[in-house]
Amino acid sequence: MDVVHSALHAGHDGGVELHRGQLVPCYECPARVDFIEQALRAAGRHTWLPPRDFPLERLLDIHDADFIEFLRTAYPRWRAEGRDGSMLPSGFPARGLRRDRVPSGIHGAMGYYAFDAGTPIVPGTWEAALASAHCAMTAAALVTEGARAAYALCRPPGHHAARGTYGGYCFLNNAALAAQGLRDAGKARVALLDVDYHHGNGTQEIFWERDDVLFISIHGTPDTEYPYFLGYADERGAGRGEGYTLNLPLQRGTDWARYSAALATAREAIQAFGADALVVSLGVDTYQGDPISAFKLSKEHFPLLGGQLAGLGLPKVLVQEGGYAVEDIGHNVAAVLGAFDSAVLR
Ligand SMILES: [Zn+2]
Repeated sequence: MDVVHSALHAGHDGGVELHRGQLVPCYECPARVDFIEQALRAAGRHTWLPPRDFPLERLLDIHDADFIEFLRTAYPRWRAEGRDGSMLPSGFPARGLRRDRVPSGIHGAMGYYAFDAGTPIVPGTWEAALASAHCAMTAAALVTEGARAAYALCRPPGHHAARGTYGGYCFLNNAALAAQGLRDAGKARVALLDVDYHHGNGTQEIFWERDDVLFISIHGTPDTEYPYFLGYADERGAGRGEGYTLNLPLQRGTDWARYSAALATAREAIQAFGADALVVSLGVDTYQGDPISAFKLSKEHFPLLGGQLAGLGLPKVLVQEGGYAVEDIGHNVAAVLGAFDSAVLR
């Protein structure tokens, strides 16, 4: 399988994040990519490609222009105030506060565009996020040019980033950009299946009113799990998009038996939709050893997940999302991709 990868990810090394009320070292760290790269190179079955370049305007199909401008200029603005280190917001426009204007100061602007304090911006963040987006867009281009499947080794991840907000370690929505790339290249109906432990709130928001992209997410219930405020089963899309969002929230402690039943429901929905192509938001934080998640999938389940995805028989773009059990992330990603290469069809 083609693997698209950029070394620019390493410039985004966030330092610290606010996680469940405590300031801790970032779970989303550059070593994640090192372990994935090691495991995929050891498998020896993949063709490594750099991302292509794309005009900045392509981002505007998915994101608001003012949001892109904020991300692009955020760190220089922070530096202009004489600050350094990681940028973290500390005030947000919650209920009762104004959301109709963006404060001109960097601290207010940060709170306006962010939805958590777990997603630091550092000097290399914009370049890393842009390269990550280009990896996903390149993988989509490879599939439209005839590849059956391509994998974008994206870091930072993307599925929490919405049209005009960032959070959950995500800045640009890589999977949404891949789906849009497939649509622009003539794939009429694109299914986007998010198997990361956390709900893909950004992707859901982006495609909420669209009927050409089916969004399905299997994730820890937002009642107890991040991102807390989106991802319930009664969210089904709106307007033309009504019925084109399917959330399958599961309880903490979910094992493979219950997980694979949700996966079967997702597969049926993708087939009923008549998808021409599939984008997978591939988080492997469903793993039982993950430090910030609570499902019970073990190593032997990731080849089964890969087989279920491969068995859908559609052209596929796999986009890396989460996975924070750093020393096992490579094994688990390679196991999913290996199922594609050995054409295990279930
Ligand atoms: Zn996740």
